[in-house]
Amino acid sequence: MARIGLVAHDDKKDELVAWALKNRDTLLQHDLWGTGTSGSRVTQGTGLRVTLLLSGPLGGDAQLGAMIAEGRLDALIFFQDPLTAMPHDVDIKSLTRLATLYDILLAPNHKTADAVLAAI
Ligand code: PGA
Repeated sequence: MARIGLVAHDDKKDELVAWALKNRDTLLQHDLWGTGTSGSRVTQGTGLRVTLLLSGPLGGDAQLGAMIAEGRLDALIFFQDPLTAMPHDVDIKSLTRLATLYDILLAPNHKTADAVLAAI
């Protein structure tokens, strides 16, 4: 069982839910963590159980970063919106930096998420 973080920026949340629904059977076998809104949307759209953290802009991204630093997350599915400025840009940079630093699987988009799930 892998510990997987789920996050999507607002314009990417529908895509994250669709991806999770497509991969529902596989995701059922894993331990899912999500920022507040993304995680709630995944649960509503798929019935998957997701442990909810704070909303991303309110500290949820920082919580996921701390989990990575503490060795408590194996993969991060993070559907990012490259066309919109985010108020919590520093948290996003920190999260992706920690995922890189600690060498965990990191998927910023749908196709990479497919590859990450296949690799787990
Ligand atoms: P949210 O956070 O799932 O609470 O909307 C996502 C984000 O970091 O933008």
